[in-house]
Amino acid sequence: MRYIPATAIFGIFSACGGLWTEESADGPLASSAPRLSRIQIPLSADNPQDQPNWDEHHDILADETVPPSGGNGESREEEAQEEATCSVDRHCHDSPPTICSRGRFRVEVTQYFIECGDQEPCADPVVAAFTLGRVRLFIFEYLCIELYRGDSFLLEDSEEYADLAPGGAEEIVRQYGLAERQGIPIIYSRTLNGGRWTGLATYPWYNLLYVALAARGGNRNLVEDWSIVAHEIGHLHGLLHTQDTKCGAEPCVNGDCNQRGDLICDPPPDPGNCGIVVEDDEFRAECQSEDCNPDPHNFMSYYGCRNAFSSTQERAMYCWAEEIDQRQ
Ligand SMILES: [Zn+2]
Repeated sequence: MRYIPATAIFGIFSACGGLWTEESADGPLASSAPRLSRIQIPLSADNPQDQPNWDEHHDILADETVPPSGGNGESREEEAQEEATCSVDRHCHDSPPTICSRGRFRVEVTQYFIECGDQEPCADPVVAAFTLGRVRLFIFEYLCIELYRGDSFLLEDSEEYADLAPGGAEEIVRQYGLAERQGIPIIYSRTLNGGRWTGLATYPWYNLLYVALAARGGNRNLVEDWSIVAHEIGHLHGLLHTQDTKCGAEPCVNGDCNQRGDLICDPPPDPGNCGIVVEDDEFRAECQSEDCNPDPHNFMSYYGCRNAFSSTQERAMYCWAEEIDQRQ
């Protein structure tokens, strides 16, 4: 188990006026009316200067914010194409390769910003690039997955999507032809599903890969919350929620951990409805059943103090990264 530090370092960014320039869209839509404006983001956003040294922070608990309301705090999040049946492609869960054993894989993402106002992106592109940079540098770099940030674009005339309704992300991907362009789309809206979701993602066993992220959740600025980005990119690399039930709920004892829940035996079973208590500056899940002891730090849980993937989750993502790399 690795714990990854989460420090609040985003206050230095101001509004991002003037970051984008009008350009004809390249790619397959170039002959039609321009609908994408390229956004210029300083390269420094990809290499944050105040990143703490990894080794110094190895296994140190993060100084995270207090979970929103205890219990199932991240309930605004939901996957695209959620299915009640267990249709998971689990070949990367069963015996995933050792991290880095097959070399490094490249997963390129392209950031797309929905309009909120007169050519104003709903999310600050510099902060978005910075947050993605943290996920790349502190997580995926160590998994031999090169989470490469490609170009960034403002989606013109997209204000109707400022609150992205269910199905809206896929509609955008198709309407703007994003799937035909380089990189996996990450779409930034102001809110998702009326503010009820923080993000959504497709699983890699679907043909259409994309992620959508909300900039706002109540009073929270979600753009700087790297745990949401890590969580959604976890889905994109085949991970289910620790409390997932689409293949059956995983009991806390004798739970057949390969067949139920998240189909992975580490992290521990998660009934998904536990509260969080803070003891000795550490977060701990407090569940109705004493048999349940979920890890509130796991990125794929809904608890509010997420900062780690389990080692098997990391290997499963590495397995899927190889396939995603080959598709691009
Ligand atoms: Zn999720």
